[in-house]
Amino acid sequence: MYDVIIIGAGPAGLAAGLYCGRSRLNTLIIEKAADGGQIAITDEIENYPGGLANEEGPESSKELVARMTQQVARFGAERVSDEVTKVELEGKVKKVHTFNKVYESKAVIIANGAHPREIGCPGERDFVGRGVSYCATCDAAFFEDFEVFVVGGGDTAVEEALYLSKFARKVTIIHRRDELRATGSIRERAFNNDKIHFMWNSVVTNLEGDGLLSRMTVKDTQTGEERVVEADPEDGLFGVFVFVGFLPNSELYQGQVEMDNNYILGDERMRTNLKGVYVAGDIRKKPFRQVVTATSDGSIAAMQVEHDLASGELD
Ligand code: NAP
Repeated sequence: MYDVIIIGAGPAGLAAGLYCGRSRLNTLIIEKAADGGQIAITDEIENYPGGLANEEGPESSKELVARMTQQVARFGAERVSDEVTKVELEGKVKKVHTFNKVYESKAVIIANGAHPREIGCPGERDFVGRGVSYCATCDAAFFEDFEVFVVGGGDTAVEEALYLSKFARKVTIIHRRDELRATGSIRERAFNNDKIHFMWNSVVTNLEGDGLLSRMTVKDTQTGEERVVEADPEDGLFGVFVFVGFLPNSELYQGQVEMDNNYILGDERMRTNLKGVYVAGDIRKKPFRQVVTATSDGSIAAMQVEHDLASGELD
């Protein structure tokens, strides 16, 4: 029986693991993939306080995650690499089922984040890995000197477009409005980048190709007019990188913890409606989703777990 099980090892889960381990709680962190969650698939993080940088720019996200993981390891949280398939969170003994085993604890911190939202148009799923991508750091190199399109207008879309411009011949941001949602400094960098172009008031309605993505239909949101964009015949393909927001990974908890629009509700101490169940990071309903807000959530959740265990609240 663990004191606390943390589900997810992104910034929120790792921060929770650090604080729980340091409080000498018997802690288990379960993660199905690599540490870091969404930052593991971004290029660089320049707004995490204390993040390292040199003349070439900020450290890579990989380096930041590696330092977080190392710091957690120092304080003794146990680690398991497995996928959680079911949770039983009501009652005093929490049960967390994975493919291989069932783990029990007095408290659970839910920190398993969010995943990229799809455009939802015909052809999108057929061309994943054959032109459609949700991860610039994973796939940018495949498009060296090719043309790519980025769908979305938020921080992620514009930052990833900037990253893609280091590889692609031309990057076009397709946005459904005539104004970016992305924050000022990120926006400016994109406007000042010669390789980045914009297709305003536009949505992608169809993706096609013969094996590889080479044709796309784009609809003007003002006039309703549709036009087909074809790959340069010499290229025979182009890339479409989709960054239209994220959806919480909360299916596991449906019917057990209270949610709003599939985001888990937590109070200012990260407590959910269930005693002994806490939430941290992007899966929580909150206004700002940043690495620093995720680590903050994780530390608060962990301190609250320690408090509730010590005060006998979870006995
Ligand atoms: P976001 O802020 O929710 O932006 C999503 C973008 O996709 C918006 O521009 C939205 O258009 C567009 N969109 C949504 N659904 C669409 C659809 N079906 N078709 C076409 N376009 C669609 O998501 P995000 O950029 O991934 O950012 C998520 C959170 O992480 C934010 O809080 C962001 O600030 C944060 N973040 C921060 C940084 C940083 O600080 N460096 C980096 C990355 C992310 P509308 O604008 O018209 O709604």
